Amino acid sequence: MTGCLFYGKGKWDKFVHAIFYLLDPSTTLGAGKKQLAFSDVRKFGKITLLNTKEAYESKHLKNLGPEPLEKQFTINNFKLRIKTKPNTKIKTVLLDQTIIAGIGNIYSDEILWQAGIHPKRKVSQITEPELKKIFRAMKTTLQKGIDFGGDSNSDYLNIYGLPGKFQLHHNAYQRAGEKCRKYGCGGVIMREVINSRSAHFCSRHQI
Ligand SMILES: [Zn+2]
Repeated sequence: MTGCLFYGKGKWDKFVHAIFYLLDPSTTLGAGKKQLAFSDVRKFGKITLLNTKEAYESKHLKNLGPEPLEKQFTINNFKLRIKTKPNTKIKTVLLDQTIIAGIGNIYSDEILWQAGIHPKRKVSQITEPELKKIFRAMKTTLQKGIDFGGDSNSDYLNIYGLPGKFQLHHNAYQRAGEKCRKYGCGGVIMREVINSRSAHFCSRHQI
C-alpha cells in the first residue's frame, strides 16, 4: 500500500491497481481529497470484499502461516512448520506464505545472509543449530526492517508519502558482485535464480 501516487513531478506510479477516494470530515469537499491506493509491483496482492467475521476463515486468509514476529511464534513452532517441506530449498520455504506469513524476497535474502545459510540448502539438510540461527535471524532482520520504516527499494512509501530506509542497510539483496560486509569474510555477493525468484548470497560464509 502507498499513500502517494507520484514518485516525483508528474510521474505516475504504474503499479497502482486501485484507488479508494476517502471522505475527509475536516472539509466540506467530501470525497476525493484523500486517497488510499493499492500498489502492487509483483501482482501477488488481491482485493476482496469480505464480512469481518468471516474474513479469517475465507479461502484468502485461512491458509496463511503465522506472523513471524508474534511472541507465540516460537522456535519449536518454526521448526515444525519448516520441516513440513523437507525436500524444498530453504529460500523457497521462507517465501511460502502458508508456512510463515510476510517474508518477501528481500527479507529472505537478508535472513539467510545473517544466518550464514546457503539459499539452495534443502530443509532436510539443515541442522538443528542452523535452524535456530535462521529463526533468530528472521526475528532480528524483520524487526530491523520495521525499525528502519520499511524497505523502499521499490515503490513503498508510508502513509505520509515518505520512503523507508531498510534498503540502505542491505547486506545481500541486489549487491551482486560486491564484497560481503560480514567482518573478516572476504566473500563476494552472488546472484542466482531459485524457483523463479532472484537470490543474493555470499560466496563464502553462506554454506
Ligand atoms: Zn560473507
